[in-house]
Amino acid sequence: MRGKAFASPSMALHIARRSAVPRLWAASRPQLYRACPPRTSRTFLSLFKRKPTKPEPQPILTEDNLFHLFSQSPFPAVRARGEAIRTLAPCPVCASSHDHADAHVKAEPRAVQFECPDCGWPTHCSEEHWAADEEHKKYCSRLREVNEDEHDLRSGRRLREFELPGPQDQENAISFSNWDIFWYTRNFPSMDTERSRRHASKLLTYPITIGSVIHQYSYLTLSNQRLTPEGSRSMAALRYTLHGETGTPETEEASALKPQMRIFILGARAESSLPPHVWEQLCLLFPAALFHLYFIGPQVSLPKPPSSSPTPKPTTAEAPSPSPEPAKETENQASAAAEKPAEEKPTYLPNVYEPPTPAPIVRHKRARESIERYGVPSYTVPYTPQLTITGMQCNYDEVHAQFQETFDPYTDLFFLFSPGFGFPSPTSVSETTSEPLLQIASPTEWGPVLPLLLASKCPIFVTGFSPADVERDVKSLATAPGVAGEFDWVITPGENAFGSEKWEVADFDPRVMVKTNWGVWGMRGKRRDVRERSGFGLF
Ligand SMILES: [Zn+2]
Ligand SMILES: [Zn+2]
Repeated sequence: MRGKAFASPSMALHIARRSAVPRLWAASRPQLYRACPPRTSRTFLSLFKRKPTKPEPQPILTEDNLFHLFSQSPFPAVRARGEAIRTLAPCPVCASSHDHADAHVKAEPRAVQFECPDCGWPTHCSEEHWAADEEHKKYCSRLREVNEDEHDLRSGRRLREFELPGPQDQENAISFSNWDIFWYTRNFPSMDTERSRRHASKLLTYPITIGSVIHQYSYLTLSNQRLTPEGSRSMAALRYTLHGETGTPETEEASALKPQMRIFILGARAESSLPPHVWEQLCLLFPAALFHLYFIGPQVSLPKPPSSSPTPKPTTAEAPSPSPEPAKETENQASAAAEKPAEEKPTYLPNVYEPPTPAPIVRHKRARESIERYGVPSYTVPYTPQLTITGMQCNYDEVHAQFQETFDPYTDLFFLFSPGFGFPSPTSVSETTSEPLLQIASPTEWGPVLPLLLASKCPIFVTGFSPADVERDVKSLATAPGVAGEFDWVITPGENAFGSEKWEVADFDPRVMVKTNWGVWGMRGKRRDVRERSGFGLF
């Protein structure tokens, strides 16, 4: 469902979107260095010494030493990213003189080579062009922030912002006004710095965006006009299942007789490789509900095969810091690092032309293959009594028939994270104009899918990575056959209070920066009946 190549500036932005999400996890490996302590002289006898209890990890980098030029980073992954950017990003000064079409300076822009001493990123072909570029000031401080964040994640310090709370105390209601109040009312460790906020918001944006939209205390309300009257019907139906009838206690016992909430996350990529304990944070917002998450898309991450070597818990497991990325990747990195010389470069996949499918995820002990059930590469994990996760690596229209008869607006909803409706399809062109079709109308992307979702009458929630991105997707609704005129708004387009606060920088052009899940909106298939029976008339 996603784009493959780009040829124009607008396509370049499209790639920024595509690359933003996988970057999210590829860029952060806080446990890598903790799992792989420096090889000090460890004697045979010292193996039998009792380990001191819960030692605080020794940071490799201190807080005042987080800035490094990419080429001089102590971390191979950062150096590898710098090298990838050097091969992909054109010098903006060369490029602008190229645009002026001076007949004598018709050369292609040179690749970036020179690293800005203030932000550390390779930004220009030469020091001269760096010095000549007045525009770079606009980006430099953000780029420096990202540089320091990347080093902080790998610094080996204890990342308290990734220590996630357990069940919510029933006496205390959760507030969804913004990240700060949410963290406070959900008993997260206090986020003392902007950097902690960026790390934590990036980790949690997928589950908490969903939770904050559907929860009865959502910040999206009729009074602030983010929720429409039509939308409030959809929400009332979902909340009946999520929370139970008014006044009933929200306890695990109350969930016993309830149907599962099914959340279909279509076109899933990085979100499908978030560790289940991060998705559990969604469930903990709804103590009386049962959840089944379905990740469906060609880039859904599947568990590694059961035959591959078992992955024993690293001995440093007592450091209670959940990884902000698929633990799988951490383990891979750790075991790879254990076998190879420490200096060997990690594989770094610049996700420019096609964002890579996230690495296989950890095989949970209860994971089972689901290929016989769904007919596509897939797995299911009953993670907790409250949470089941299924992943299917396929296009949604391949499995729709299996669900078609079962959709129910009281229990089912769709979430599409940055689907790129308004971007041109890389593969499908209009028969009449030969222009690329927008992905929302393209037979190879969302064209066949959206009418099916609208027919279900279940709500469809969508995110975008910037104001322009949301606007582009929303505008495309008006042009798509089977979509235009066929939906009601549920949530009006606008900012998502639970977007990531971290800038994601594009490898192909470090001036392109976006924030994951910046905005959110929702729609639902139009109601056709003018008169409805009472009681069952919601849809
Ligand atoms: Zn240049
Ligand atoms: Zn700079």
